[in-house]
Amino acid sequence: MKTAFITGSSRGIGKAIALRLASDGYRVILHGVNESNHIKNLKTEIEQNGGKADIVCADLCDLEATGVLCEKLENVDVLVLNASTQYRIPWQKITVKDCYEQLNCNFVSSMMLIQAVVSHMKDAGWGRIVTIGSVQEAKPHPDMLVYSASKAAQTNMMQSLSLQLAKDGITVNNVAPGVIYTDRNIEALSDPEYAKKVTDSIPVGFYGAPGDCAGIVSLLCSDEGRYITGQSIYVDGGKSVQ
Ligand code: NAP
Repeated sequence: MKTAFITGSSRGIGKAIALRLASDGYRVILHGVNESNHIKNLKTEIEQNGGKADIVCADLCDLEATGVLCEKLENVDVLVLNASTQYRIPWQKITVKDCYEQLNCNFVSSMMLIQAVVSHMKDAGWGRIVTIGSVQEAKPHPDMLVYSASKAAQTNMMQSLSLQLAKDGITVNNVAPGVIYTDRNIEALSDPEYAKKVTDSIPVGFYGAPGDCAGIVSLLCSDEGRYITGQSIYVDGGKSVQ
């Protein structure tokens, strides 16, 4: 049984990916900042459906905590880098601390986690790494300057690693969601005026659901995905080409 580690899988898109990979037959390692009821309930749900799930927790803004997490990871065949930190602040008001927290979580921790799992993938001659990016790589939101830049940096790293790891049977890709209705944006989208503006910016005319991102991740992580590497795939109802 192969093992898939999905960061930020207690809720939202990461949860949908974890459920999908568990039903695809992977043992999944679930992750969140804390061992919340969300994550414990998800582990129970997966096990009740006959799957295998474990939990690890760490705040990925804190690089020491990421280092401790890296030490715990063994035999990871599939790594999905889904957790992120996102601050909505006008760019002239961003502090250096805000910058580092977002860069640490969205880029530096991603690199550290890849470093931690890649030797097992190389030994196995098989591995899958999927970064979760954002439509903001193509359409940056003015109040999320560092967030969108951190996602673009992560995708640049994905492209470089896809070339460096191609001969090892390891594929590296990015899935970039558009507006997916999760805890992250529920509050912002509760403002009808803002919600209309957002919906009007999506060619298909509606928000996505977390499950909309899970199918493509499942494909990329399967043997059928072996010839897809170095790609960024938008799951955004057409927003990136708008
Ligand atoms: P979400 O519902 O807010 O869930 C965030 C997940 O990440 C939770 O599991 C949370 O753990 C974990 N997390 C948050 N901060 C963390 C930190 N500092 N260290 C470790 N884990 C942390 O998020 P989502 O909307 O599903 O987004 C998932 C991914 O898709 C993110 O990379 C996001 O940037 C990307 N994305 C989302 C959208 C969207 O519209 N939703 C659009 C574009 C891209 P806890 O439960 O323990 O807090």
